[in-house]
Amino acid sequence: MQPCEVELFPGTTIQPGTLLYVRVHGKAEKITLLGHTLTPQITGASSDALFGVPYEAPVGQTLLSVACHNEVKVLLTVEPGLYTSEVLHVDGRRVHPQKKEDLDRIRQEQKAISALYSHIDTERQFQSPFLWPIASLITSSFGTKRLYNGSLRNYHTGCDLRAPEGTSIHAPAKGRVRMAQNLFFTGNTVFLDHGLGLITLYAHMSRIDVRVDQVVEKGAQLGLSGKTGRVSGPHLHWQAVIHGVKVNPVDLVRLTL
Ligand SMILES: [Zn+2]
Repeated sequence: MQPCEVELFPGTTIQPGTLLYVRVHGKAEKITLLGHTLTPQITGASSDALFGVPYEAPVGQTLLSVACHNEVKVLLTVEPGLYTSEVLHVDGRRVHPQKKEDLDRIRQEQKAISALYSHIDTERQFQSPFLWPIASLITSSFGTKRLYNGSLRNYHTGCDLRAPEGTSIHAPAKGRVRMAQNLFFTGNTVFLDHGLGLITLYAHMSRIDVRVDQVVEKGAQLGLSGKTGRVSGPHLHWQAVIHGVKVNPVDLVRLTL
């Protein structure tokens, strides 16, 4: 029997907040990285799994282990993410909702979103590379550290693309619509499930053209850009989540496996 071999995208050097695609040439039972074990999807003679490297992942060396008929271990290097910072001076009322009806709504929506992330389609739907959802410029990159009134509070969980109101937003790859509705923070939002644990979302839309459970093909129109939810102006916030871990969606445009 041939020994199982491992192919990786982007390679053995990764960063916090990026994806790692693992393809094993052979039938793998389990793949483990940074304390998370996944059961890969087996197609023919290869096994595929997609990991999100958490933004908080420690910098240094770590082992990827693959349980195949032979045990394969690959040494990976997590190098620091080159993320910039932006300082925001905000009015406390804008970021801290206080009305009871708003707080109840936010809690309900967060529950529905966590439920969505925990029940994922395992079968890969997409063909790489992904397309850009709109042809535009990035106005705020994934991972930008956000300092509110001087202290680090969070980081940007998606990638913002310039989009005047009414710009067509396209599915960057085939997927199934898991949620398509108005949410408190992200406004009109569409969640697409691409399989292998990958979900992408499109926020602040002025119009949604798809419905839950619809399977959309690569390039299909999801709706129009806008400024719904908590935003100061129209743009597209594009986000990618792998098994609940937020990663840079731009990695999908470069993915070759
Ligand atoms: Zn954003």
